[in-house]
Amino acid sequence: MDCLFCSIAKKEIPSAAVYEDDEIFAFRDINPQAPVHVLVIPKKHIAGMDEVTAENSDVISKIFEKIPEIAKKEKLDNGFRVISNCGEDGCQSVRHLHFHILGGKKLDEKMC
Ligand code: AMP
Ligand code: ZN
Repeated sequence: MDCLFCSIAKKEIPSAAVYEDDEIFAFRDINPQAPVHVLVIPKKHIAGMDEVTAENSDVISKIFEKIPEIAKKEKLDNGFRVISNCGEDGCQSVRHLHFHILGGKKLDEKMC
């Protein structure tokens, strides 16, 4: 299967890594929308939030345990935003589940 973020997780495509363990990879967005813009992905392919199930959701809780640690390391002490775009209407452009961590400035109040 041809998946950009699977290739990034396997280091077949280079990225600016921020955090890594057996199940999770975090790296800097190539087109940052804020001073800090990190993407957090499960290494195992899940297409998007619409494909999260009881069988594969363990890694989601692990990602959500890691996000505050990553935010601290990135000095986002004044707050941050976590977003997962899903599917066509959610404007998901890469069909490998990812969570955007955005921060480092006062973000727009508008979410859509
Ligand atoms: P989304 O639109 O929510 O699917 O987000 C996909 C994100 O992946 C966008 O913010 C892109 O800038 C980012 N992106 C695309 N290709 C790369 C890459 N090679 N390395 C890092 N980030 C990427
Ligand atoms: Zn993938």
